[in-house]
Amino acid sequence: MKPLILVVEDDPQIRRFLRPALAAEGYQFHECESAEDGIAQANARRPDLMLLDLGLPDRDGLEVIRQVRETSQLPIVVLSARGQEKDKIAALDLGADDYVAKPFGVGELLARVRAALRRSSATAPEGSIVRFGEVETDLERRVVKVSGEEVHLTPNEYKLLLALMKHPGKVLTQRQLLNEVWGPNHLDEAQYLRVYIAQLRRKLEADPARPKHLHTEPGVGYRLVME
Ligand code: CA
Repeated sequence: MKPLILVVEDDPQIRRFLRPALAAEGYQFHECESAEDGIAQANARRPDLMLLDLGLPDRDGLEVIRQVRETSQLPIVVLSARGQEKDKIAALDLGADDYVAKPFGVGELLARVRAALRRSSATAPEGSIVRFGEVETDLERRVVKVSGEEVHLTPNEYKLLLALMKHPGKVLTQRQLLNEVWGPNHLDEAQYLRVYIAQLRRKLEADPARPKHLHTEPGVGYRLVME
């Protein structure tokens, strides 16, 4: 079965741009021009993924995310206008899986779609060992090794790494990570994250100044890239 992509976008030019790209990738797709129709079709058609514009004529795209998330874990990739950091963060906080900033290239968009589909169909990893690059984490023993050598992580460094590993490839907002590691009373302490991400990079990355795995998404949050 070809995955079904629900496109919720009122701009006909962008829809025209998406059609051949999605078709060439072997996806089926259905187009909606309003928030109302997007929510209705998400329920009726049970798509495998939603591509969602935030600026819709009838209602805010954020409202679509809120409504869909009440009943479904359908992967949602947001198409956001460039520079709308606030919207990106709100979308991710509401449970969107990823975003692509307009104007976007076909290659980047399809990579994000593939990654979101892969995550949603992924089953739990075999055993308790998670690997990315030279890093190997034994979740049962809470041991982290780099190139076979054990590396000591503090409890909060380990928690932060774990939070990122639970959602490989997905952008996590600063508030999501702060909540997971330090709890709901520290949601505005973005400097904690800067310090701890820097520490993790020093311990895990071959070149901490050019991280291959622990990526910063400027103004939004962080993403762990496994491959
Ligand atoms: Ca629009």
